[in-house]
Amino acid sequence: MSITPLFRMDLRRLILLLAILSALVTLANSLYASYRVQRQMLIDNTLESNHAYAAKLAGSVGDFLDSAQQQLAYSAGLLATRYADTAYLEAEAQRLRLQTDSFNSVVFVDATGRVLATSPDTLQILGRRLDTPGAVEALRERRPLVSAPYLSLRGNLLVFISHPVRDAAGRYLGYIGGTIYLKQTSILNRLIGEHHHRDGSYLYVVDASRRLLYHPQAERVGTQVGDNPVIDTVIAGGEGSLRLRNSQGTDVLAGYAGVPQAGWGIVAQRPTEATLAGLDGLMLGVLRNALPLALLTALCIWWFARLISRPLWQLADGAQDMDRPGTAARIEGVRSWYFESSELKRAMLVGIGLLHGTIGRLRRDVQTDPLTGLHNRRGLDLAVELWRGEQRPFAVVALDIDHFKRVNDNHGHDAGDRVLQELARLMGESSREDDVLCRVGGEEFLMLLPNASVEVAAQVAERLRRRVEQTPVEPVGSLTVSLGVAHWPRDGSGIDQVLKRADEMLYRAKRHGRNRVETADARQPAGAVPA
Ligand code: GH3
Ligand code: MG
Ligand code: MG
Repeated sequence: MSITPLFRMDLRRLILLLAILSALVTLANSLYASYRVQRQMLIDNTLESNHAYAAKLAGSVGDFLDSAQQQLAYSAGLLATRYADTAYLEAEAQRLRLQTDSFNSVVFVDATGRVLATSPDTLQILGRRLDTPGAVEALRERRPLVSAPYLSLRGNLLVFISHPVRDAAGRYLGYIGGTIYLKQTSILNRLIGEHHHRDGSYLYVVDASRRLLYHPQAERVGTQVGDNPVIDTVIAGGEGSLRLRNSQGTDVLAGYAGVPQAGWGIVAQRPTEATLAGLDGLMLGVLRNALPLALLTALCIWWFARLISRPLWQLADGAQDMDRPGTAARIEGVRSWYFESSELKRAMLVGIGLLHGTIGRLRRDVQTDPLTGLHNRRGLDLAVELWRGEQRPFAVVALDIDHFKRVNDNHGHDAGDRVLQELARLMGESSREDDVLCRVGGEEFLMLLPNASVEVAAQVAERLRRRVEQTPVEPVGSLTVSLGVAHWPRDGSGIDQVLKRADEMLYRAKRHGRNRVETADARQPAGAVPA
């Protein structure tokens, strides 16, 4: 059982569909590949630039801390000999705070922890023993320090940078310290806050205990950051970059670097989403650039599809009426410019040749008597039809073998057949090329002679009669035939009428002794046969 598809696509559409499909897939694939590459590049670039930025800031903050320590160290050197001179201490504290922007406040403390001088003097802690974490640590450690952030007596969140003061003999006299406020304007803010976070990027600073020293959201300063792999790495002294989900659950691209002087870490980061926001526009640009060539390609493909399918659909068109006479010429004209089409064309031409040969042969066979090779009744009808259309007159000679039954009886059916074949040959020899010779019954024949008069036909009949009489057939011997002659349209307007008339003449010949020719009388109408 064959399945008939609902609709049948032609080759051109198929090629076109295939080509456009593959062009689309290729375009989509290259867009996707380009998207992936661009995306990775954006991420890598952001990671790299955040790392560079964090490293640069870490350097600056480190430099600042060094310079702050250096300032304190210089002051400590100056003060070593005059640590009891309160007025001098006041002046030096003032200078230290105001000459540079390094500190929000400055304090000089003696070896027992009592405040000797402060700047600004609004602090009102003069003479008191400081018990803030920074102060306690400085007194205990007696070395240059940067404290962890803590709340001062006046409630400022700060870090404390301190330096010991020793006299020439190396005795510990106390320390001097400067504070940097974390929540108010300070050198740290200014240093870090210059960073603009218009593109969604921002940075923060943590100390070794994960407390935020700087953050764009001021309220988070001083709080401890939760689980965050970057902070783990940076406070352990590492630097680099990482894509991660931060403690707030945001996917970010972070670069980080440490400040070894204080054990701090600086992290510059940008939400991945903000980084990739421009990607859509970028891809649209890629698409816009790729589209003209893609369209041109599609156009070329369409044109080629036409070119390839053209000979095939022309051949297919021809295949639908291969039996028609003009088809071979039409197929001959198809420009089959590639191998398969030219092979198809060749095969079709061969096929058409065979088909036409077969049709011709079948047509001939249908019209031919196989025993004698003469026309049969069908062939006769066709010839007569043609002549009637052309109004071409013709004479009819009807012929029957005399006593043929005896031949069969005495010599067998095969000998009879041979006689029939021999008679057909003699008929051929006695006629012209245009004449139509038929075997219309067992041993009854007709000769149609176009453009021949009754007289001429009678002569032909007579000549044939004599020829048959004089030509013995082995093993039968001599035979005779009886013949009747009529004419169309002389003996009747209808063809059948005239054939019947010739038949009547034949039987008249039989009645009159056989082996003779009888010709229709012009005045005798058909059917009125005298005995
Ligand atoms: P008549 O002179 O009156 O024509 O006598 P006849 O014996 O020829 O009689 P008729 O024409 O009626 O003969 C017909 C015979 O022709 C009958 C049959 O034996 C023979 N016949 C018919 N067709 C064929 C054929 O195809 N082959 C052979 N061998 N004999 C045939
Ligand atoms: Mg007969
Ligand atoms: Mg006969």
